[in-house]
Amino acid sequence: MTNPVKQIGIIGLGLIGSSIAHGVRRWRPEMRVVGYDRDSAVRQQAAALGFCHSVADTPAALGQGTDLLMLAVPVGSMGAALAEVAAHLPAGAIVSDVGSVKQAVIEALMPLLPAGVHLVPGHPVAGTEQSGPEAGFAELFQDRWCILTPVPGCPDWANEVVSDLWQSLGSQVTTMDAPHHDLVLAITSHIPHLIAFTIVGTATGLAESTQREVIQFSAGGFRDFTRIAAGDPIMWRDIFLNNRDAVLEMLGRLTEDLTAMQRAIRFGDGLQMAEVFTRARAIRRTLVQANQHVPPQKPKAAST
Ligand code: NAP
Repeated sequence: MTNPVKQIGIIGLGLIGSSIAHGVRRWRPEMRVVGYDRDSAVRQQAAALGFCHSVADTPAALGQGTDLLMLAVPVGSMGAALAEVAAHLPAGAIVSDVGSVKQAVIEALMPLLPAGVHLVPGHPVAGTEQSGPEAGFAELFQDRWCILTPVPGCPDWANEVVSDLWQSLGSQVTTMDAPHHDLVLAITSHIPHLIAFTIVGTATGLAESTQREVIQFSAGGFRDFTRIAAGDPIMWRDIFLNNRDAVLEMLGRLTEDLTAMQRAIRFGDGLQMAEVFTRARAIRRTLVQANQHVPPQKPKAAST
């Protein structure tokens, strides 16, 4: 396959958008990288950091000559971001995205696609708790999965162009249908975050003296929840607003399992507890074997 992309346009220059820009500059030097963010302070920061060849002042300017558009804004802003640039994209352009929810994003983007422009939805399963243009680094996607959720009618070559891009950033690419993606990510990512946000909230609501001890003894497990709960509030709000059904389905199952554990503790059923904990430990070992257990870290040196 020959890759026709000469210019990648990235809307949203936060953690994910800036990391894509760093990665493309390093591993796809033949592509021109143009960025845009609605926040003028972010545009200025991005221009100073230099991870794009140029930072556009308007979505229209970004659209000109962009044959691969990457939407890297919160899930609830995807439609608004595409609406501003769609009319300026050349015929044959590809629109892709990095949203953590897929079905709602597809529904928002499809009606806005100009004729002859193709949609390839995607989700890099990689991130840190940081946000903003300074947080990005080229290696973020190395050895991580990127899930594409192809839509009917999109030509194979367009799906291959996006798959090829993610592979050059170091990701392993797989495909799923969008509802299945949303269900899988609800239990592997969205619910763990919901639990983390909730448990940190519960601890914060405790009396002042207990709160001090929560901080003091946080190494007992609470610390790991606070790390997960440090994600961007707008990004996470949008995820729960846009993946409601899958999250509620998985939350129902979790609640049943928690109730079973509550009963086991109440009635001293050690056998049941040991069984659940043993299965959980085996799952952790498979994660370690698959090298998916350590969160990505920004290298100390600058990384374009
Ligand atoms: P981020 O660091 O908060 O950056 C998002 C940027 O997009 C912000 O500068 C924001 O500006 C800008 N923006 C919002 N609406 C816009 C619009 N309509 N037009 C132009 N710019 C707009 O967020 P992120 O962590 O990179 O996340 C971006 C996307 O990646 C989300 O869809 C998220 O679900 C997905 N994702 C995130 C992770 C992760 O771990 N962070 C992992 C995988 C996928 P304002 O500040 O003015 O809103």
